[in-house]
Amino acid sequence: MRAVDIIARKRDGGELSRSEIGFVVRAYTSGEIADYQMAALLMAIYLRGMSKEETLALTEEMLYSGVVVDFSDLERPRIDKHSTGGVGDKTSLVLAPVVAAAGLFVPMISGRGLAHSGGTLDKLESIPGFRINLSLDEFRSTLVKTGAALIGQTAEIAPADKKLYALRDVTGTVACAPLMAASIMSKKMAEGITGLVSDVKVGSGAFMKSEDEARALAQVLIDIAHGMGKDASALITDMNQPLGRAVGNSLEVIEAFDALKGIGPADFIELCRELAAEMLVIGRAADDVPSGRLVYDKLIASGAALEKMREIIEAQSGDPRVLDDYGLLPGAAHQRAVPALAAGYVQSIDTEAIGHASMLLGAGRSRLDTPIDHGVGLSAESRIGDNVEQGSTLATLHFNDEALVEEATLLVNRAYDIGPEPVEPPALIKAVLR
Ligand code: URA
Repeated sequence: MRAVDIIARKRDGGELSRSEIGFVVRAYTSGEIADYQMAALLMAIYLRGMSKEETLALTEEMLYSGVVVDFSDLERPRIDKHSTGGVGDKTSLVLAPVVAAAGLFVPMISGRGLAHSGGTLDKLESIPGFRINLSLDEFRSTLVKTGAALIGQTAEIAPADKKLYALRDVTGTVACAPLMAASIMSKKMAEGITGLVSDVKVGSGAFMKSEDEARALAQVLIDIAHGMGKDASALITDMNQPLGRAVGNSLEVIEAFDALKGIGPADFIELCRELAAEMLVIGRAADDVPSGRLVYDKLIASGAALEKMREIIEAQSGDPRVLDDYGLLPGAAHQRAVPALAAGYVQSIDTEAIGHASMLLGAGRSRLDTPIDHGVGLSAESRIGDNVEQGSTLATLHFNDEALVEEATLLVNRAYDIGPEPVEPPALIKAVLR
């Protein structure tokens, strides 16, 4: 088989066979197929799509590109959550300790920032010393010791996704349902879980812009999980404005730590509570969602979730003092407000542009080898429906490089549509699929 023939067939709208997909995944993972050929194939898939059969084949080939962890000897349910990607989405940093504190195991393989969206791994790496590259043995021992282990794709687990994820990030091939489904499920089915809750984002800052697309992706994720014998459900949640206020790695870590202390923006806390409740139900640690919410409240109020985060950070070689002293996290030298150019109600926010503004300041990558600045980002203070005065703060930029500020300011100003009509804020939870 030749990669170029497979690329050309997908370019022309053909359907790839399982053996062709298997060949491409294996050859790309081992380095026989070059980045430029894989990038061309990804773009062809982005433009032409994939059938159900191709999507399943891609997921399975990516999954079996590495080890599928077997935790079946561990007696507790093993539950994870995965988001399809958004702006300001730092729920994993709250959910892992909460759900572990409730007595379930949370083996979590996450990704880095993807296009305009942030990634859990980049956020975790804001914590001085925190290691996301645990070996398989360390993954298991950390899980058993603390109840949670938070890692990235490795050369052992989901190696195909490790490479493809990074390539998609910089080739404009992220917002593609079959590629997203295969990427997500090849990681999640490798981590030895018994159940998965998907948080499928929809809106201007999501990869799925319409609710129909989001529902279709959610159903594919649930079907793949069920097909592999896992419990699964999905929440369709709003991404028409940043989740919470903080966008950017350290800033988001601080907002997540605050949530573990019971403080912070209502929308962020509501989503953490709903997702945690769903995870607890799937893991049989709560009879229903209302009881799951109460467990969440108790674990936050008692400080048990915060203490669990301390254990997790310590177990993964991070400095747990960051929980008490945010000054130990990387910061930005400067802050500047972006003032509203007109008075009125915030009608809508182009949340993808907000993500781009944060990336532009250094929080994300534009090339495979771009280093990121964990200290920069922004705080999106004005929300949809807010009544703002001319000159009042829409967002505050946190930056280290003065030269980038003008363009980031422009992006934020353009992202906010301000008009005379009052507007209802969008509902956060759009649907739950089980
Ligand atoms: N999360 C992933 O792991 N992969 C994607 O493609 C999108 C979100």
